[in-house]
Amino acid sequence: MSNVLSVLGSTGSIGTQTLDVARQCGLRVAAITANKSVEKLEEQAREFRPELVVAYDAAAAADLRVRLADAGIQVASGMDGLIEAATLECADTVVTAVMGMIGLQPTLAAIDAKKRIALANKETLVCAGELVMARAAAQGVDIVPVDSEHSAIFQCLQGVHHSEVKRLILTASGGPFFGRTREELRGVTRADALKHPNWTMGAKITIDSATLMNKGLEFIEAMRLYHMPPEKIQIAVHRQSIIHSLVEYCDNAILAQIGTADMRLPIQYALTWPDRTAAAATQLDLFSCPPLTFERPDPETFRCLGIALECARRPGTPCAIMNGANEAAVGLFLRDQIGFMDIPDLVEYALSVVEAEPAETLDAVLRSDAAAREAVYSKASR
Ligand code: MG
Repeated sequence: MSNVLSVLGSTGSIGTQTLDVARQCGLRVAAITANKSVEKLEEQAREFRPELVVAYDAAAAADLRVRLADAGIQVASGMDGLIEAATLECADTVVTAVMGMIGLQPTLAAIDAKKRIALANKETLVCAGELVMARAAAQGVDIVPVDSEHSAIFQCLQGVHHSEVKRLILTASGGPFFGRTREELRGVTRADALKHPNWTMGAKITIDSATLMNKGLEFIEAMRLYHMPPEKIQIAVHRQSIIHSLVEYCDNAILAQIGTADMRLPIQYALTWPDRTAAAATQLDLFSCPPLTFERPDPETFRCLGIALECARRPGTPCAIMNGANEAAVGLFLRDQIGFMDIPDLVEYALSVVEAEPAETLDAVLRSDAAAREAVYSKASR
């Protein structure tokens, strides 16, 4: 059980909900970080009185230093600041809730500092899963998932031998465009894509949910976290987001974790595991549940999912190339510079021009990521 947290990405959706859990469970917060949300960081710093506050952006950090001059709180910036927050002596758990590939280096640093990782940054495991899991095993560090699906699986797997598991079933809400044809998806706008039916999340993951790339990333995340081959993981579209995922055992028993679409439950479990404590999350009323339905996903219409499932089967850095290209393309889409269906096209383009290499070192992963982003930007600006 955690007592002292370092929250990387404290002003985002998962970060603020983590602080909510910390407030309700009486956990100390030793470090908070964000990119440049200075006002929110200041407000959080004044409430939680951490030792260290990090604004990744240097100008934002300078501003924050002035704002917090009276508080006696250290302010840092950049990747060095993130790594300092991830390795802070007094923290026992690092919540990695930053968005994207930027979470990789702080996560590795936190593992080396033997912190529990409450992992909410799926890009880390997608890009460098083998590297991260091997490092965690070598250091004897627990990586506890925060993502609702992976937390559900983690909860169902407690007290189970790996050999007893037949398959993992990842549920997917299907996003706002489930059931639409490719033709219908072409005219989708940023505002349409940002309306998720069930979950309130940050912009990048909401777009990933609309393209179903999010489920592709989660598929790869599940392979790495649970050491499962792709053929033992199935995706089921479950529109109600009440079942958060399931595990099927060798005797055909299936266990599911069900609850409201409230991220505070998986966040809290990642912090209190192996214990459970009184809830920060909302309660599910079974009698008000709609009928629960399950459908097959369509990786041909939702091409991002198809691409991710292909990359999942390839060794080396294809997953890092795919993820880097997707992050770049989603960024362009959020700035209205490309259309919705350009996202899978650009990811496919990056995979066709960037050469994959073995994913054995951090440098190899970072190289593939950078080359993929570069490929997307140059293609999109043509
Ligand atoms: Mg999820």
